Amino acid sequence: MFVSTIKNSGEALLAIINDVLDYSKIEADKLVLHPDVFDLERCIHEVLTLLQPTAREKGIALIVDYDLFMPTMFIGDVGRMRQVLTNLVGNAVKFTEEGHVLVRVVGRSVEETGACDLHVTVEDTGIGIAPDKTQHIFGEFNQVEDERNRAFEGTGLGLAITRQLIGLMNGDIWVDSAPGEGASFGFRVCLDVDEDMSLAPPCLPDSVQHVLIVDDHAVNRALLQKQMEQMGARVTLCMSAHEALGTLQGVDLVLCDHHLAAPDGGTFEQQARAAGHAVPVVKLSSVQAGRGAEDAQQVVRKPISRRDLFHKIAEAVNREGQAGPRQLRVLAAEDNKTNQLILSKMLKTADLELRFASNGHEAVQAFEVFRPDLVLMDISMPHMDGKEATAVIRGLPGGAEVPIIALTAHAVGGDRENILAAGLDDYLSKPLRKAGLVDVLKLYLPDGVRSPFAEN
Ligand code: ADP
Repeated sequence: MFVSTIKNSGEALLAIINDVLDYSKIEADKLVLHPDVFDLERCIHEVLTLLQPTAREKGIALIVDYDLFMPTMFIGDVGRMRQVLTNLVGNAVKFTEEGHVLVRVVGRSVEETGACDLHVTVEDTGIGIAPDKTQHIFGEFNQVEDERNRAFEGTGLGLAITRQLIGLMNGDIWVDSAPGEGASFGFRVCLDVDEDMSLAPPCLPDSVQHVLIVDDHAVNRALLQKQMEQMGARVTLCMSAHEALGTLQGVDLVLCDHHLAAPDGGTFEQQARAAGHAVPVVKLSSVQAGRGAEDAQQVVRKPISRRDLFHKIAEAVNREGQAGPRQLRVLAAEDNKTNQLILSKMLKTADLELRFASNGHEAVQAFEVFRPDLVLMDISMPHMDGKEATAVIRGLPGGAEVPIIALTAHAVGGDRENILAAGLDDYLSKPLRKAGLVDVLKLYLPDGVRSPFAEN
C-alpha cells in the first residue's frame, strides 16, 4: 500500500523534474531536434495505447481519424513528436469526464518541395477553456485557476513545452474552446515525406460494395462511414446488433463493434451465421486483450491503424467470400529485367498471378497492396536488398507467415545458413531451373488456393 504510494509520488515527481529540465533546456537554446524517418500514424497509436487504460477507466473513447490518403512515413524527431502528442492527448483525457478524445490528422502536400503540411487536432468533450484563458495556458506554470480545473493535478508546464517544441519544428499551435464545450488543440508542422507518394492508397476488395456498420458510438460510426464511403462503398448504419440482424440482406461486409450492449458482436456473428448469412464480419474492440484465443485472432483493437483495418477486411473477405479455392498470387522481387523475363516465361502456362518489384522498397509496398501468397526474393538488389526487405515484410500484418524464397547466385557453403538466418524460408539458386521453381510453388501452396499446375 505505502509502496505504491511512494512509487506513484516518485513517478509524479520524475515527470515534473523532466518537464522542468526540458523547459530549461529549451530556454537555454540547448534543445536540438534529432530528425529521422518515423511513422506518424504508429506514433499516435503508441501514445493512445499508453493513455488507453486511464481513458477506459473514465469511460472515454479514444478515436483516431488519420486521413486515408495521407502518407505515414515522415522525417522528424519522433521522441519530441510523441512528447507533444502525449501532452495534448494526456490533457484531453485528464480534463474530460465523459465522451471522447479524437485525434484527427489531415495534410496537404507542398507542390514545390514534396513535403507535407500536416494538421493534427486533438478534440475532447471535456470541461473546456474560457476564451480569455486560451493564450494564458500556453505560458509556463500557467493553469486555469478555477474550482473545476484545480480538481486536476499538473504543473502548468506541459503546454509551454509543447508550444516551444512546435516552435522548434517551425510550426504553429492553437486552441479552440468554450467552457463546458470541450477543447480542440491543433498544431501545424511541415515535414518531409519519406514514402513513395505513388503508393496505392488502401482499397476494399472488389466484392465489397455495401458495408454495414454496427456501433453504438456515434463518432466511431461516423468515422467508419466516412472511410468506407471514401473507398467507394455504400454504407448502412446500425446502432445495435439486434437492428443489424434484420438489415443483412445485400450486405457484402459487416464492421461491428465487439462490445455492443447485448447481443454483443460475437453473438451477433453467431446469430447471423445461424440465419444463413455467410457475410464477412470484422469485429472491432476497444478492449486491449481479447477474452480468448478466438478473440485475439478475429477482433481488431481500436483505435485501428488504417493498415490493420484494411488487412483484416481483406482477410475476412477471403475467409468467407470465396466459393472455391482461389488463384495463387506470387510476388517476385527481382531487379534484373532479363531474370524477370525468364521467370515470366517459366510461369507462363501456370495458373497464377505474378507481379514484379524491382527492389526491396517496391517489394515491401507491393506486399501490402498485392498480399501475395508467396514471395520470390532476389538477395542483391539496389536501395534495399532482399534480406532487409524480408525483415520489413516480417513486421507487417500477414508478413510473419508468408513464405519468402530467396533467389540467389551465391548459394554456396555458409550462404545458405546466412539466408535462412535472415528470416527467409528457403532458397533457389540461379540460374533458375523450372523444375525447382515448380517444386517450391507446390511445396508452399497455402490452404484455399488452387494449384497453379494442371495435375497429370
Ligand atoms: P498541466 O496540465 O500540467 O496543468 P498544461 O500546461 O499542460 O499543464 O496545461 C495548462 C492548463 O491548461 C491546464 O492546467 C488546464 O487549466 C488547461 N488545459 C489544458 N488542456 C486542456 C483541455 N484539454 N481542456 C481543458 N483545459 C485544458
